[in-house]
This record gives sequence, C-alpha cells and structure tokens, in this order.
Amino acid sequence: MSDVKMLINGEAVTADERFDVVNPATEQVIAQCPLANQAHLDAAVAAAKSALPAWSAKTIDERRAIILQMADRIEDNIADLAQQLSEEQGKPIEGFAGLGAMFELGGCLAWIRYTASLDLPVEVIQDNDEARIEVHRKPVGVVGSITPWNYPLLITMWHVIPGLLAGCTVVAKPSEYTPLTVLKAMHLLNDLLPPGVLNVVTGKGDIGAGMSAHAGIDKIVFTGSTTTGKRIMESAAGNLKRLTLELGGNDAAIVLPDTNIAEAAGKIFATAMINNGQTCAALKRLYVHEDIYDEMCDALAAIAASVTTGPATDNPDFGPIQNKMQFEKVCALAEAARADGATFMTGGAPLDRAGYFFPVTIVRDIPEQSRLVQEEPFGPILPVVKFSDVEDALARANAVSVGLGGSVWSADIEKAKALAARLECGTAWVNNHAMIQPDAPFGGVKQSGLGVEFGRYGLVEYTNIQTMQIAKG
Ligand code: NDP
Repeated sequence: MSDVKMLINGEAVTADERFDVVNPATEQVIAQCPLANQAHLDAAVAAAKSALPAWSAKTIDERRAIILQMADRIEDNIADLAQQLSEEQGKPIEGFAGLGAMFELGGCLAWIRYTASLDLPVEVIQDNDEARIEVHRKPVGVVGSITPWNYPLLITMWHVIPGLLAGCTVVAKPSEYTPLTVLKAMHLLNDLLPPGVLNVVTGKGDIGAGMSAHAGIDKIVFTGSTTTGKRIMESAAGNLKRLTLELGGNDAAIVLPDTNIAEAAGKIFATAMINNGQTCAALKRLYVHEDIYDEMCDALAAIAASVTTGPATDNPDFGPIQNKMQFEKVCALAEAARADGATFMTGGAPLDRAGYFFPVTIVRDIPEQSRLVQEEPFGPILPVVKFSDVEDALARANAVSVGLGGSVWSADIEKAKALAARLECGTAWVNNHAMIQPDAPFGGVKQSGLGVEFGRYGLVEYTNIQTMQIAKG
C-alpha cells in the first residue's frame, strides 16, 4: 500500500520519505505512510489558517449540516473502515462483549451525531437601563489534534468534530502506529468540507513537537501519555496555545464487602479488559475487601480462563497488544509482579507465536508497591489487591499522581456514592467503570490532564469568550 497519502488543503499529498505501518498480529508491514516534514506541516497549518475565516463565518447550523453528512459518509463505509482499523490496530471486528472495531465505528457515529446537536448560544449576563452584556463564544482558531493508537478513529472524531462545529479548522496527526484508518476516513470525508478545513499530516519523531510549537496553531488537543502531555505544555507556551490534554490514568476500583460478586465480576472484567486493557479510563487497580477477596479473584479468573486471544482474523475475544513498545511494557510489568511474589491466576507470559499477543492475566496477592499496581499497564493484565480497612483502600487509591477515573462497588448506593466522591479523579462511577458517553464531560484531575471533552463542556473548550458590553442611555 504505497498509495497512502496525507490530506493538505483538500489535496492528497505524499512525501519523499515514508515509514512502515505494522500489523500487530503478524508483525508484517502492511503499508508505508508519508513521513511529513516541517514544510508539510507548515503547508497544512497555512491551509487551515486560510480556510478559517470562511468556515468560522458559516452559521453553526450550516456547519452542523455538514458534520451530519460526515456521519452518514462514515456509516456508508463502516465495514471497510472497521476492517482497516482491525488490521492496523489489532482489535477484532466484534470482540469480547462486542467491544471491537465495530464498537469503535459505532462510537464515532454516536459522538459525531450527538456533538452536532449542540449549540453555542449567546448568554445574556445583564440587560437593563445601563447596559446589555452578552457572552459570545468565538472559535479558538486553528486546532492541532494529536491522537493515540488505542482508538485511532474515535479519538480523532472526539477532537475534530467539536472543533469543526465551533468554527475552528484542524490539522490532525494520527499516531504513527495507526495512521491508516484515520487517513482513509478523512479522504472519504474530504469532498464534504471546503479545502483546508480539515488536514491530516502523518509522521513520527518530530511532527507532534512541531505542532505544539507552531505559531500558526492556536490550540492543541492531545490524548496520550502524561510525559508527552507535559512536553506539549512546555512547547505550547510560545504563543500561549489553549490546551486540552487527556492523559494517562491508573484507575482504582474499591469493592466493598457487601458487593454481589456474581453481578459485579463480569462488569469488572469487561471494564478492565476493554480494548485489551488499552483504554485510558479502564479499571487498572482492583482493591477488594478481604471478606470477598478469594471469591472475587476466583470469579475473575474463571472469566479470564474462558476468553480467547488471537489474530482478529480468527474472530477471538481479544487481539494483540497494539505495538511492540506497549507489549514490552506489559511483559516487564508482569515480570516485576512475579519477582514481587504475586500469584498469576491466568496468563502471565506472552503467547509463543508471532505478533504482540499477551493473554488476559489476573494477578492476586500482589504487594501495593509492585510496579504493576503503581504504573499504568495499558494492557490485558489486572492486579487484584486485598484490603481490610476502607479508609486505607481509599488512601491507596488516591496515592498516585494521576486521577482520570475511579469506582466504588457496593449494594449500598448511598454509601458507595459517598466514598466515590472522595476519589481524586475526573469521573467517579458507582457499580460500573470506564463508561463514557457523548453528553457527559470527561477529563482528568492531577496529572491525568487539563480540561474536559464531550458535550457542551467539551465544545466550549474550542472557543474563546468575547464579552460584548453595549452601553445604554
Ligand atoms: P505518547 O502519549 O507519548 O504520544 C505519542 C504522540 O505524541 C505521537 O503522535 C508523537 O508525535 C506525539 N509527540 C511526541 N512528542 C511530542 C511533543 N514533544 N510534543 C507534541 N507531540 C509529541 O504515546 P506512546 O504511543 O508513546 O504511548 C506511551 C504511553 O502513553 C503508553 O504506554 C500508555 O501508557 C499511554 N497512552 C495513553 C493513551 C490514552 O488514551 N490516554 C493512549 C495511548 C497511550 P511524533 O511522533 O511526531 O513526535
């Protein structure tokens, strides 16, 4: 596949240099993608800048109509896009609990269509004999979107669609591990948009940093690691870019002794292993009360033992880990847990075959200080930690530098809610985890990020306020 091209000013653009895209199930190169240089980035930013006045001058209803056509176009090509996504990302088309590639495509449609229904009404603060004061929402300008490899198309839509609706133009950079589905989708959508409104550059190594420092970009929206988020913040200082940063987490769940294990175990398993554990708000540390610890470990291990891991072409529950870097990180955390004396109830070592396959792994009797508990694994491995005192469990849940999500599980909703309110995180669930939806704001506290995405709260992050004061009398 050497016909893969970027999208700059409405044109398909190639580059002299290319980089390999690898199928994680086979470790084979499936495409070569253009390696953008600074001139490509400059051209994309210039195109976005020159498209901005006309795009932002359209009414929100005009932009909404185009965005809804974009959703229809995605829907018309859903099978093709899901196939491409499955090949480059590794996730099965259907997968465990139907949370595979088709789920990601369905999410794209849900998010695009809900976001398109939003408005940015003028707010009247005062209207009396002295003055009328209105609050207007203006597009922030050119948005740079940098997206990861776990949900390549869905997260691109999370960034791009509210930006377009608000009247911004966009330069998007997909992960170098998974650029193909995003490119395919954006080329499909190209004729619906004026040239330059939506541009895609692909590269690795320096394009993300180039975007963060670019004087022609007014805002960066980034989903990825905390380390890179901090670098973006530093390089964005030059022109005081607006930032939305959705970074890593290490979500804790606290399971109280009155929890119905038969009901909870399935949900806990699904929300820990969603997308093979490669989900920012997946459940990543499970604290279970000593009274039900053995029973919960056994229930989780039974589910883990019943699922399959393999190439998407075999229609398994779970595919490979998406890339070698992440695969090696999961292997290293498993080894560290083993060295710390933890017990592996299932899995624990990579599959003996080509591809980045690591089976679903449930780990018990693990010390709190093990790296597997303290660091985000971002893979199919769940440490189950015993507690006897709920205040101690809460303290451990909060004793990390990140705070994306967290949950409390109990038959007593009020008790669970009171405890969940004390979790230091952006989203707290009761008797669930990792459930997000297009109308509910989502973001992290502490080092899990800055700002929120989704719904009206997310949309206004693509705007600046202009206060209009009209004197009277
Ligand atoms: P990173 O989060 O480090 O992000 C890589 C992306 O950021 C690339 O597109 C890269 O572009 C860009 N980038 C790198 N340096 C800079 C910079 N200085 N300024 C702006 N952009 C930059 O991803 P990794 O794939 O390396 O994953 C690392 C960890 O992140 C994982 O192990 C996982 O824990 C976590 N993660 C979290 C996700 C989430 O949903 N929150 C998603 C994926 C990963 P370029 O190559 O052009 O430099």
